[in-house]
Amino acid sequence: MNVRQRQDGMTSPRARERLLQRLRKQGIQHPGVLAAMRNLPRHLFVEEALASRAYEDTALPIGHGQTISQPYIVARMSEALLGGRNMETVLEIGTGSGYQTAVLASLVRRVYTVERIHALLDQAQRRLRGMQLRNIRCKHSDGSIGLPEYAPFDGILVTAAPEGIPRSLVNQLEVGGRMVLPLGQPGEQALVRVVRTYSGYDYEILERVTFVPLLGGTA
Ligand code: SAH
Repeated sequence: MNVRQRQDGMTSPRARERLLQRLRKQGIQHPGVLAAMRNLPRHLFVEEALASRAYEDTALPIGHGQTISQPYIVARMSEALLGGRNMETVLEIGTGSGYQTAVLASLVRRVYTVERIHALLDQAQRRLRGMQLRNIRCKHSDGSIGLPEYAPFDGILVTAAPEGIPRSLVNQLEVGGRMVLPLGQPGEQALVRVVRTYSGYDYEILERVTFVPLLGGTA
């Protein structure tokens, strides 16, 4: 078997099927999330040299000091966001590779995604267009202020960790809308689900996680 064939083997539908089996074992049940991750070619969201590792359950570098999230985390966050609901509009903060964006775009009517590093956004946008995913709007901006011009959203998913729950983002949720985000300093982060209420918000802690920090400004 030559290198090329081995690489094809590692990125084949069978490799994705194994990923799906692992996700199910890890407790992921949402049929839409599982179907989206079965269909999407994660190996096209990382550079070619890492493509053969794309279906391992691990985060991988995507340049600029950032990473594509571990598949389990993408699945867990998507499932925690949607639960059993149908969502029309979702805002994602931290486009990164665009993989989580593509998963969300398979599940809701429209996804708005915001990234502070221009080069990453550019690359993600090209990939997503190449996959004919047309229900995504990308914006180069500081996601810590959200996207007020398109608010309110049914859901917000944040893929970089702020130290506290950003009030500006809570305010851009519909009442009853949900936000899933990692919270806290590196080494002591937790995944949290926030539900917007009439008077403010409720939240629950889901599990421990490791994310890059949510930074201010753009680059
Ligand atoms: N969901 C992405 C995760 C990328 S890592 C993926 O799986 O590929 C988190 C991303 O959040 C990085 O690309 C980082 O640049 C971005 N980020 C950090 N702070 C941000 C901010 N304030 N606004 C927008 N994006 C931010």
